[in-house]
Amino acid sequence: MLKHFILLCASFLYIITSEASTFEIKELDSGVYVHNGLHEDISEDYHGDICNLSFIVGNKGIAVIDTGGSYHTGARFLEAIRQVSTLPILYVINTHVHPDHIFGNKAFTKENPIFVGHYLLPDSMELRKESYLRSNKEWLGDDFNGSEIVKPGLTVKTTLELDLGDRTLTLTAYPTAHSNTDLTVVDSKTNTLFTGDLLFVDRTPSIDGDIKGWISVIDEMSNGTFKQVVPGHGPTQTNYQQAIKNEKNYLTTLLKDIRASIKKGETMESTMDTAAESEKGKWLLFEIVNRRNVNNIYHSLEWE
Ligand SMILES: [Zn+2]
Repeated sequence: MLKHFILLCASFLYIITSEASTFEIKELDSGVYVHNGLHEDISEDYHGDICNLSFIVGNKGIAVIDTGGSYHTGARFLEAIRQVSTLPILYVINTHVHPDHIFGNKAFTKENPIFVGHYLLPDSMELRKESYLRSNKEWLGDDFNGSEIVKPGLTVKTTLELDLGDRTLTLTAYPTAHSNTDLTVVDSKTNTLFTGDLLFVDRTPSIDGDIKGWISVIDEMSNGTFKQVVPGHGPTQTNYQQAIKNEKNYLTTLLKDIRASIKKGETMESTMDTAAESEKGKWLLFEIVNRRNVNNIYHSLEWE
């Protein structure tokens, strides 16, 4: 239930205050809005609101980019969108399969949007469905009530354009990088790139795909000239080349250190303690995410 709605025009900051807590949305640029999630780990202490959620308002309707980690977060996001515009929600785009980005989808089904994602997203959602439902229920408890997997009805294999009237969104699907279902969005009107989790700012990049594939995708991304870049996690960047460089440093250091450990015959356990140590102190949640990354990619690098 909404109690207050405050609009501060000067700072383009919308604060939606509900009984539970505030849900903040910023207008980044003309018709482009972002909610920045919190930097919590996705296990204990997780509340289903850790990634960036965006929406873009065209004169024909709205496109939503990612919906949060639960029905509850998705519903609060929808409530916030409705304070800005009553236009129809035409598209709900998921940037990839991870639970913090997709479990709010269910809150949007009553708006009848077209759900859009990478061409591998429906299968990937199906494969992970049971374990995602189980683990997220465990982490979120009652806050996860009402959450369901909602798969895309429209998928992207290479690129796809979505028409919002006075602006067009260009969606691009990538080979395996951060995940096997990465998708980016560019808004033509403001030249804003939404990277999903292909770009992490401040928070340690987490790998659930192919580290070498990810490095080549961000190299490609650094050739673009965007006015601003909205990462999957962390603040919006105007100087995004530096953010890409930081992420590339982390990924290349991790890759180099794991390869060196394998060459020396060190076990995965001991590699977890040492790999990418020089990057420690530069990133949030480093200990937990970095160890998990070694765990996820060590074995695939053993067979290079
Ligand atoms: Zn992710």
